Amino acid sequence: MMDYDLFVIGAGSGGVRASRIAASHGAKVAVAEEYRVGGTCVIRGCVPKKLLIYGAHFAEDLDDAAMFGWDVPEKRFDWAVLRDNVAAEVNRLEGLYGQTLGNHKVEIFHERATLVGPNEVKLASGKTVTADKILIATGARPFLPDLPGIEHAITSNEVFLLEELPKRVVIAGAGYIANEFAGIFNEFGSQVTVVNRSETILRGYDEQMRDRLLQISMAKGIQYRFNSTFERIEKQDDGSLKLVMKGCDDIIADAVMFATGRVPNVEGLGLEHAGVELGDKGQIKVDENSRTNVPNIFAVGDVTDRVQLTPVAIREGHAFADSQFGGNPWTVEYDAIPNAVFSHPPIAGVGLTEAQARNKLGSVKTFTSDFRAMKNVLAGRNERSLYKLVVDSSTDEVVGIHMIGPDAPEILQAAAIAVKARLKKADFDRTMALHPTMSEELVLMR
Ligand code: NDP
Repeated sequence: MMDYDLFVIGAGSGGVRASRIAASHGAKVAVAEEYRVGGTCVIRGCVPKKLLIYGAHFAEDLDDAAMFGWDVPEKRFDWAVLRDNVAAEVNRLEGLYGQTLGNHKVEIFHERATLVGPNEVKLASGKTVTADKILIATGARPFLPDLPGIEHAITSNEVFLLEELPKRVVIAGAGYIANEFAGIFNEFGSQVTVVNRSETILRGYDEQMRDRLLQISMAKGIQYRFNSTFERIEKQDDGSLKLVMKGCDDIIADAVMFATGRVPNVEGLGLEHAGVELGDKGQIKVDENSRTNVPNIFAVGDVTDRVQLTPVAIREGHAFADSQFGGNPWTVEYDAIPNAVFSHPPIAGVGLTEAQARNKLGSVKTFTSDFRAMKNVLAGRNERSLYKLVVDSSTDEVVGIHMIGPDAPEILQAAAIAVKARLKKADFDRTMALHPTMSEELVLMR
């Protein structure tokens, strides 16, 4: 007899969903979490980040209000107010996550757990428990390069706790996190410099969207240094940081934030005691059922480095629980996953980029709409949106939608259904426009 049917290590998006669903199928479940229930997304990722994005965007809204007749007194931003309100909301959500687990009779151990064998877990308190199945959902953490002075750098983990807003901030990397925080800091009034090792931002996104974001961001005052890397970080007597660079001039800043990818959390988990195999990036290797090479040990979410997105981890956790405890086996579909970068303005995309479609399908048609949102026109904000449909010429199927502009992620979620359902361009054309909206552009491109 085992102590539990399922023991989950890590109460983030994937672990919480798997625990709750397995328990609702009647399994006896325990979860161990050494930090805070909710994981990266809730505690120091998507959720607090999105609240900062909302906070940041007021900088533009307050400026734009004048043309709509509002007399706004001189705007002033208080970082501490937003930071503390966001922290309070995160606390509230953490409580709700804990409650959900409790309501489903999932036992929570607020401590670190390590594997001591394929069916055995040791808790930090010294207690050892056994479980029929073990799920590893320990997520990932920011990658930090090994360079002199790296201890002076921050990552997205620390950014939510900053005592003060840096006047000058350098962001290393030009992916999701870099572009989102470049926008946030810039709207709050910091001088932002983005430094990337290559010559591009947002590798993997549609080129036209990337170009548009770069152009708008530069117009907003964000600076870029491409093909550049950090040699060392020196703390100066006045508290500022000297960034000694290769590929560009040295930079003086008040903070440097590394956003150069995330690495799976596998260290010290005792995986070797159970014989769990890792891949070349240190990720836990799993099959389509999220099963590792050890038949009763599974892994979901960022620790498997499949697609590092919350909804993917949640679905992997759900599929695992239904399949192993609910008598309803299913697997996650990884095609047409919508994604977004919450930059200013945001980018969103689903399906193939134009370049990917040309490589994969050969004959491709694209349709674009390059327009200025009516709100921007009246506000005198010279910022153009760009929407693009990528269509397979031989079938007329819309295989990709890419957008940059206000509320692009909100619009794209609905449009992603059409790509997932493999609707044709003719279906878009037959759909009546909803006027006046930005999203009507999706059905008006000819
Ligand atoms: P990304 O993979 O998006 O971007 C990493 C950036 O760092 C790239 O510009 C890359 O350069 C550069 N880089 C990578 N490795 C190194 C290195 N060793 N040295 C120097 N530069 C390097 O990572 P993020 O950290 O921004 O985000 C991590 C993940 O979190 C994302 O992949 C995403 O899955 C998830 N996320 C999703 C969000 C969303 O959905 N909105 C928001 C935030 C995170 P290049 O590619 O040009 O070579």
